Amino acid sequence: MQYRENKQGEQLSVLGYGCMRFSRKGNGIDLEKAQKELQVAIEGGVNYFDTAYVYAGSEAALGAALENLNCREKVNIATKLPHYLIKSIEGCEKLFQEELKRLRTTYVDYYLMHMLDDVETWEKLCALGIKEWIAQKKESGAIRHIGFSYHGNTENFKALIDAYDWDFCQIQYNYMDEHSQAGREGLQYAASQKIPVVIMEPLRGGRLVGMLPEKAKELLKKEPHHRSPAEWGLKWLYDQPEVTVVLSGMNSEEMVRENMRVASETLPHSLSEEEKQVIEQIKEIIAETVKVGCTGCRYCMPCPFGVDIPETFRCYNAVYSESKRGAQHEYLQCTTFRKTPTDASLCRECGKCEEHCPQHIPIRAELKNARKALESPLFHLTKFAVKHLRLWG
Ligand code: SF4
Ligand code: SF4
Repeated sequence: MQYRENKQGEQLSVLGYGCMRFSRKGNGIDLEKAQKELQVAIEGGVNYFDTAYVYAGSEAALGAALENLNCREKVNIATKLPHYLIKSIEGCEKLFQEELKRLRTTYVDYYLMHMLDDVETWEKLCALGIKEWIAQKKESGAIRHIGFSYHGNTENFKALIDAYDWDFCQIQYNYMDEHSQAGREGLQYAASQKIPVVIMEPLRGGRLVGMLPEKAKELLKKEPHHRSPAEWGLKWLYDQPEVTVVLSGMNSEEMVRENMRVASETLPHSLSEEEKQVIEQIKEIIAETVKVGCTGCRYCMPCPFGVDIPETFRCYNAVYSESKRGAQHEYLQCTTFRKTPTDASLCRECGKCEEHCPQHIPIRAELKNARKALESPLFHLTKFAVKHLRLWG
């Protein structure tokens, strides 16, 4: 494993384990499977594990697995405060204690203000007394390092970096987001201020792998290195010395091993100009086809009227990157062949989802576009049949 340093010179594995996408079984996380995958990662030298209060079941699964593996002291736990849920410092303390209990620990190594996107929000937290609370937690050892995760624009990111003495930060960054959100400019600014940067969505929620357009896949097949799309995406990040940790949401032992191999092999400044050109070509192909920049994070969910927003956008993008017929079929399957439908026509345009979307997608407008592309006469006929023939009870 390759390691890079935090502010205090402690070693962090360049590959971090994103615990948002553990495999699920029934209504919960498949703990046995997740624990095996975590064990492979820990044995391979991964020492940074990222979760959050709002990732359903994730903190509890990570806590249980680390306790079962007797590994708490060997690893760093990063988790997040959903500051948008708190109205007082007492509320903040209550959430933090709940997180410690779920994680079966007495301290958090890396604690983040979750989705802190502007200085105004930070100032509101300061007015509640968050700085004093952080100081007291650091003093007692309950929080070792404090940071924030970010999805806003470059300008606000730089302002936030300057607003407090952060120990680290976390941004969405991948080759398609080089110039959006914090972007390369933000990454380099944070690094210039000696603030370690953790990367989330390195493969845009898997879109730079599973939903790569056929033309891009063909280009990679002809490429002499024979690398997977994931390897290209991760190498692009490890190549940049300003990147400290890259989070990957791994949910198979094979994926953990493969990602550890790439993390061990790719040193800063190791990509050649020819390799960078390959990535530029992929970017151009993707930009031609993607309609909605949805990462599938599901922060917009649940929709009070039952729309499965990320699934709708996934199918909508597939109309252009794969095939229209296949995407329409998939949309029908995943939104209509079920007891409770989840298709885009259920949208009542309340706007609730848009308040939570880190990609700032105009969800209501895009759902209308998605309906036009995905809802064929066959869709409506099938939906009618499913509903009136009570096929699902
Ligand atoms: S705007 Fe539409 S999709 Fe979004 S939460 Fe409201 S009803 Fe659901
Ligand atoms: S629409 Fe936005 S919040 Fe919802 S899954 Fe996509 S990126 Fe995430």
